Amino acid sequence: MIITDTHTHLYSEQFDGDRQAMMKRALDANVKRFFVPAIDSTYAEAMYQLEADYPEHVFLMMGLHPTHVKENYLEELAFVEEQFKKRDFYAVGEIGIDLYWDKKFLTYQQDAFKKQIQLAKSKGLPIVIHCREAFDEIFEVLEDEKDDQLFGIFHCFTGNIEQAQRAVSYNMKLGIGGVVTFKNGKIDQFLNEIDLQHVVLETDAPYLSPTPYRGKRNESSYVINVANKLTEIYGKSIEEIAQITTENSKDVFSI
Ligand SMILES: [Zn+2]
Repeated sequence: MIITDTHTHLYSEQFDGDRQAMMKRALDANVKRFFVPAIDSTYAEAMYQLEADYPEHVFLMMGLHPTHVKENYLEELAFVEEQFKKRDFYAVGEIGIDLYWDKKFLTYQQDAFKKQIQLAKSKGLPIVIHCREAFDEIFEVLEDEKDDQLFGIFHCFTGNIEQAQRAVSYNMKLGIGGVVTFKNGKIDQFLNEIDLQHVVLETDAPYLSPTPYRGKRNESSYVINVANKLTEIYGKSIEEIAQITTENSKDVFSI
């Protein structure tokens, strides 16, 4: 059995004290494939180091995270493009719109999101979307950009059934993480109406730990708790959930 964590910030400073042990716990739990989203230029070195340390397991994305879109965002986007000139990545991510923390950079966020979608299309790559309190704004951009080349993952999906179906209509898989295990997380109520072929697993470590670790630091081995919840929702064994969601991740990332 191989489990794929399609969204994990393994380079986070929160793992600096015990990264090797944390990685070992994940690998021992059959979590063997880690897709690692970017945040901004300040994390690039740590990401490349992680890839050098775990070359068979770690697959990097590159992009500018919406909460890090500020006055200097064009410089940051230039950095992203520069990295793509030097080497390959598996996706453009994570990108999107976040209106929870700050609304004042909305127009910059929209521009950065659009430009990075176009970058992904020009490279034939998937996008990995971060959406917080911004479904309407995200869908507006996707509506403009939808075509055969648009595909990817709607990471940490927490919307309702209509929003789930709409995300799928834009060739997005739903990244399902710890929220599905929460008592008030709501997505567990309708997820079985979404075909499992549209679902991938993720942790978003070190954030959003699943039950019973809620409120504590998250790590990739806890993706098992998410997979276990899906066995209940879809009435399948853990092996089937692992296999199907790993295949889905291969569809998206081509590896
Ligand atoms: Zn993330």
